[in-house]
Amino acid sequence: MKVIVCIKQVPETTQVQIDPKTNTLIREGVDSIINPFDMYAIEEGVRLKERYGAQTYVITMGPPQAEQALREALSLGIDTAIHLTDRAFAGSDTYATSLVLAKAIRKLGEFDIILCGKQASDGDTAQVGPGISAHLDISQICYVKKIREINLEKKYIIAESMTEEGYEVVKAKLPCLLTVVKEINEPRLPSLRGMLRAKKAEIIKWTHKDLNLDESQVGLKGSPTQVVKIFTPPPREKGKILDGENPESINEVVKILKEIVC
Ligand SMILES: Cc1cc2nc3c(=O)[nH]c(=O)nc-3n(C[C@H](O)[C@H](O)[C@H](O)COP(=O)(O)OP(=O)(O)OC[C@H]3O[C@@H](n4cnc5c(N)ncnc54)[C@H](O)[C@@H]3O)c2cc1C
Repeated sequence: MKVIVCIKQVPETTQVQIDPKTNTLIREGVDSIINPFDMYAIEEGVRLKERYGAQTYVITMGPPQAEQALREALSLGIDTAIHLTDRAFAGSDTYATSLVLAKAIRKLGEFDIILCGKQASDGDTAQVGPGISAHLDISQICYVKKIREINLEKKYIIAESMTEEGYEVVKAKLPCLLTVVKEINEPRLPSLRGMLRAKKAEIIKWTHKDLNLDESQVGLKGSPTQVVKIFTPPPREKGKILDGENPESINEVVKILKEIVC
């Protein structure tokens, strides 16, 4: 079994500042961490390694400092790390990001499962996982809270996918991409042995050329969407509580509704 985990390095805070000129995140001076949902994807990858002897890979597309996130994943038990790093990737939207990740996954050859987090805590779109599966033309199960069964001979997976009311049991063909939620497991801490191994491990680095991608397919040039404006919505006005039994308050409600509608 081959399992590939996609992780994103994100700012440690949700209070990120936006550059008003470029409409991109200002990352300078902010500590970075692995996207919290991706910690669950890493843990699930390591559990599949322990249960099925899976070969495990971790991939990130990001600037040079994202190597730290890969080393952390290695310290937790993932076997091999791949860093997609290239100035040409800067400014990629979710379409270009998922294309680059899909190309890198294809370059690794046959695989069975791709694990992603539910969403990233900075971009927050939850589009990259489904985007990868669309580029690779494979099945996907989103918001997975439990893997029930994997049958490598008959090539299927059964998983529980969270819904607003509960969960659905979904059967899909392998290879399959899963996006995971925090209910799926409890991530472990790295072992000392893992940390020592991760420190010395070699990290594979690929650019757009290694992925046979043209510069026009990645970064801003390869991104069909553009952030035109980013702003914080004004805070909601405080609600007004009227006494329900009082006829005067009924008149007041009617007055307020007329003001809103007219
Ligand atoms: C319309 C639009 C325009 C944008 N334009 C720009 C821009 O001009 N410049 C810019 O810097 N950013 C831009 N971004 C942000 C950039 O597209 C995202 O940071 C990136 O594509 C990941 O999307 P996300 O953060 O929403 O991840 P999500 O889709 O929420 O992430 C889901 C999961 O996908 C995986 N994943 C996500 N990103 C990566 C990654 N890089 N490597 C490995 N795995 C990953 C992880 O498992 C993650 O948990 C734009 C975003 C949008 C929606």
